Amino acid sequence: MSGQDIATPKRTKEIIAKYGFSFKKSLGQNFLIDQNILNKIVAAAELDKSKGALEIGPGIGALTQRLADAAGKVAAVEIDNRLIPILKELLEGEEHTTVIHGDVLKLDLKQVFAERFEGLTGVSVVANLPYYVTTPILMKLLEEKLPLENIVVMIQKEVAERMAAKPGGKEYGSLSVAVQYYCVPEVVCTVPHTVFIPQPNVDSAVIKLALRDKPAVDVPDEEHFFRVVQASFAQRRKTLGNNLTAFVGKERREELTELLRACGIDPVRRGETLSLEEFAVISRAMLEKGWRG
Ligand code: SAM
Repeated sequence: MSGQDIATPKRTKEIIAKYGFSFKKSLGQNFLIDQNILNKIVAAAELDKSKGALEIGPGIGALTQRLADAAGKVAAVEIDNRLIPILKELLEGEEHTTVIHGDVLKLDLKQVFAERFEGLTGVSVVANLPYYVTTPILMKLLEEKLPLENIVVMIQKEVAERMAAKPGGKEYGSLSVAVQYYCVPEVVCTVPHTVFIPQPNVDSAVIKLALRDKPAVDVPDEEHFFRVVQASFAQRRKTLGNNLTAFVGKERREELTELLRACGIDPVRRGETLSLEEFAVISRAMLEKGWRG
């Protein structure tokens, strides 16, 4: 690591005081000050010098300096312009690390990949994400079908549990299906709020999403599949039959019951009991009838 380790309470406080930095809650700024947790995050990404790392929200660079050691190239996207000069100074000498000032939700990530990661054998996203935009960021990474090997991120514990949930429990919902369609999720560790400055109000977890070579289920129309999933969870207390009637139209209630039975799915089940394959079967059967919802 070139330069001192940023991720200690003392050093982080020194940096904040030196630059007169004040935290913006609205940007989800909770900086990590625990070396063990940072090392676990980096280890989970399985980087080496032939690989790249995209970091979202480097803050003052606690994770970035470790990624610079572990990966061949690092690109770190930070929205807060006050942090850019701090990062440039603290990461001076990290030759293969680029800081990009921007909002990751607006950035052309395909272009970032083409410019920063060409020729590498794989790229991971590694980040302690701002919690207020966790889901939009992850959905953008997945839906844009970026050539990623895995995503290792610190997020709110409750969101990590929803992403990794299996059918049958109350955590399982459209987020679980969307994530598991593209990835195999694994909760790496849970993290107490004491390892951040300032401390967030919630507990956190590190989740690893290993990208699948192809989606978990075969569907002819992804957008329709996800709309069926959303509709199935629209009102969690309602049965699948009732939720999907609202989706296809009341006049098709009887036909819908028949369709679900023909798919081997009892219409009185709830959305939260269905596997990805069962959602795929329903979506395919609806499309065969031309029901787009
Ligand atoms: N990586 C640092 C660490 O672990 O100490 C900081 C993590 S902090 C939880 C989240 C960081 O994301 C902050 O630096 C914040 O300014 C940045 N951020 C928030 N929204 C962002 C966005 N839309 N695009 C890029 N960065 C963002």
